[in-house]
Amino acid sequence: MKNFLWLSCFAFIFSLNAQPVKKAPVYAGQGPAVIVLTESKPTQKQWKGNFTFEESDVVFSNDFEGARLNGVIQINDSTFTALITSENTPINTSPWYAFRVSAKKPKTINVVLTYQDGIKSRYYPKLSKDGEHWTPLDSLNYTPFEKGNEAFGMGSLPLKVSMKLEIGNEPLWIAGQELETSSIVRKWATKLATEKDISYSSIGKSKEGRDMGLLSIGKSESKNMIMIISRQHPPEITGYLSMKAFVETIASDSKLAKKFRKKFGVFVVPLMNPDGVDNGHWRHNMGGVDLNRDWENFNQPETSAVRDFMVAKEKETNGKFYFGIDFHSTWDDIYYTIDAKFEGNMPGLVPDWLDAVKLDLSGYDPNIKPSDKVKPTAVSKNYFYVAHGAEALVFEIGDNTPRDFIKEKATVSANKLMMLMLKKL
Ligand SMILES: [Zn+2]
Repeated sequence: MKNFLWLSCFAFIFSLNAQPVKKAPVYAGQGPAVIVLTESKPTQKQWKGNFTFEESDVVFSNDFEGARLNGVIQINDSTFTALITSENTPINTSPWYAFRVSAKKPKTINVVLTYQDGIKSRYYPKLSKDGEHWTPLDSLNYTPFEKGNEAFGMGSLPLKVSMKLEIGNEPLWIAGQELETSSIVRKWATKLATEKDISYSSIGKSKEGRDMGLLSIGKSESKNMIMIISRQHPPEITGYLSMKAFVETIASDSKLAKKFRKKFGVFVVPLMNPDGVDNGHWRHNMGGVDLNRDWENFNQPETSAVRDFMVAKEKETNGKFYFGIDFHSTWDDIYYTIDAKFEGNMPGLVPDWLDAVKLDLSGYDPNIKPSDKVKPTAVSKNYFYVAHGAEALVFEIGDNTPRDFIKEKATVSANKLMMLMLKKL
């Protein structure tokens, strides 16, 4: 009997070990970008102010940069339904929301997030006391309804969600992703620009008149140039956080970064869509257009500002853009590259770089999707390659990629890129 038990135990363990290892699903990536008209269309501005429920002593507010809250209805003494709508339609499912809520006396409320027809809940709620430092809502206080069971995309999302919030006199901020508004981005860029070979200036104005800020890092008169952009799409914060760590590494005090900055001029537009960000847009600029479809016709001031800057810089330095990168967020980490058959100013740079990054991040298997079509340019990476010969890619980070891994990957990526470009030039 004893032997039999041992044997069956052994068999059980063996059968556990023999189970095929279940591989994590891999995000298949988007199809080719659909060509759309990019002439300005109307957008819907949200009403701004306080939504006050006097009898229950609860005040909601959307009166701040980056807010998106289009209506609140009280269901019972402690439950409220918030409505979040987009700036215009058609639009993809990236319903960003941000609002503040307070009460004179401490209390617990439930807030149900609902959206316009055809839209589901995408971004996990983050909480903040100051609008700058965020923590995810405790999962015990989060209830998704009718959640799909797919790994990515619409089929992975709940139709709506409910959150339980402890509120009081100090306003509690709730947002779909961390708020990185134009003021916060400006604060970050201005601080970086206190270093001696870094400056921050404006290369134009957005449709609503906000500055298109540009960080210039390293030797700005160098013939060897790099273009970095992020936040064409307002809620794509994880891509923005990656850009931040990437740029901070290039701007750092390391020996490598200093050497790199002597040889290269690095130009960064950290916030491509400042109007969209400050108005809490889901995707478009104030012209109601997806900026990342406007790199062919340049109907919008934000894309035109970057084009004019790059063209002028090439003329001024008689130099070349060797590399162009555009940071975004999507369902999972993925690189949208350009097929190696298209050779730019530094052939092989992107594949060699991504190989080097993979070697330095143990257990990381990069998802790379090269495109074999670069015209019409429409999207930034194709424009960087076709108009300037820059080796170019879109660097996408998952909505829920852990924030410390975002930073680690971006730091390794910036270091490997600097090493390779110094070697290849
Ligand atoms: Zn995007």
